[in-house]
Amino acid sequence: MTLLMPAAFVGHGSPMNALEHNRYTDAWSNFASSMPKPKAILVISAHWFVNITAVTAMAVPRTIHDFYGFPSSLFDVRYPAPGDPGVAQRIVDVVQPTYVGLDEDSWGIDHGTWSVLVHMFPDADVPVLQLSINASLPYEYHFNLGAQLHALRSEGVLIIGSGNVVHNLRLMDWNSPGQGTYWAQRFDEDVRAIMTSDSSELGRAGDHVDYRLAVPTPDHFLPLAYIAGLSAAAATPTRTLVDGYEMGSLSMTAYELPAT
Ligand code: ZN
Repeated sequence: MTLLMPAAFVGHGSPMNALEHNRYTDAWSNFASSMPKPKAILVISAHWFVNITAVTAMAVPRTIHDFYGFPSSLFDVRYPAPGDPGVAQRIVDVVQPTYVGLDEDSWGIDHGTWSVLVHMFPDADVPVLQLSINASLPYEYHFNLGAQLHALRSEGVLIIGSGNVVHNLRLMDWNSPGQGTYWAQRFDEDVRAIMTSDSSELGRAGDHVDYRLAVPTPDHFLPLAYIAGLSAAAATPTRTLVDGYEMGSLSMTAYELPAT
């Protein structure tokens, strides 16, 4: 029987999670400890949201600090994992006829990726690649591309979507740590009902009464579409890895697609 590596969607929340230890970061590191060492890690991060589909293909990806207004200690974080040009080419091949460009020098490892991986793989000794989210294409494209990545799971590649199911920075309430407003909870719970039963239905979330508040821009939601696609391709529902809310309008829910 072929071993399929697990996959996961992680709610990365604040970049400060890179430096903190809390029940979210504990869940991320426990998840990583539960699996054999991956051959490579492919991350679909909310923070590489551009008008093309590309995969990082450099041998030495740089750490990108794509935020401002945080302590200098966060800008000092480096995640020196290597890349893997061979795996990048494999990704290009496996999703054909969908076009994926090879990015030799534009992107690297952004904080959607490293704020999570510093907890999952602190030694940074597994090659890391990122797949961009093509901002010009609809939900179905991302769900289908996720499903097309299914073969990589049997080749030892750990696939991680990094975003937040509910992500409304404009409505954040700094006096509500650990809490979610009613609409954030309602959306997150309804998404969870889908992800833990039939992920192929995730597209219905776009019609949800709270979608516009929970997903004012699609960048943090779409990484979940890739994990939903993988889940549908494997005919295996995801299960909740950790859940919670922060500042009223952020959901930290993470989903695991188990190894089989
Ligand atoms: Zn983010």
